[in-house]
Amino acid sequence: MSESCIFCRIIRGEIPSYKIYEDERTLAFLDINPSAPGHTLIIPKAHVTRVEDLSEEDAEALFRTLHRLVGGIQDAMEVPSSTIGINNGPESGQEVPHVHIHIIPRTRGDRGGIMQGLVRTTGRPSGEAMLDIAERIRERVG
Ligand code: AMP
Ligand code: ZN
Repeated sequence: MSESCIFCRIIRGEIPSYKIYEDERTLAFLDINPSAPGHTLIIPKAHVTRVEDLSEEDAEALFRTLHRLVGGIQDAMEVPSSTIGINNGPESGQEVPHVHIHIIPRTRGDRGGIMQGLVRTTGRPSGEAMLDIAERIRERVG
């Protein structure tokens, strides 16, 4: 728990929210500045800033809640699709330092883009460069 964190304050009921779902480890509520109607945030009840710092239990619980809610959100908003994403760290645009999954309902013609279009810091790397990148990552996660 963090005293000042706005999402911790929502969990404690000090700030109102449009609650969608709650269980032992997670809470889901509407984003106050929605990109589309039904834009929902799912958060862990534990105050953790970044995905890599979540406990395995909270990581599992977040995805379980996502899986549980996404179809209902799409049905309720009468849309066929959604974009699901996490801004993980300030350089990615994270403003609230408490992990949250965005679920943004999507329709054709909503003028939204694709997540892969957010960033373009590289062209297509050579096969050799791809091997090197894969190896560097494997060394750290294996
Ligand atoms: P970001 O940290 O950039 O991934 O996004 C934070 C999100 O939290 C934004 O989409 C805000 O609209 C949303 N937000 C901030 N304060 C509240 C609040 N009190 N209730 C609901 N959503 C909020
Ligand atoms: Zn918090």
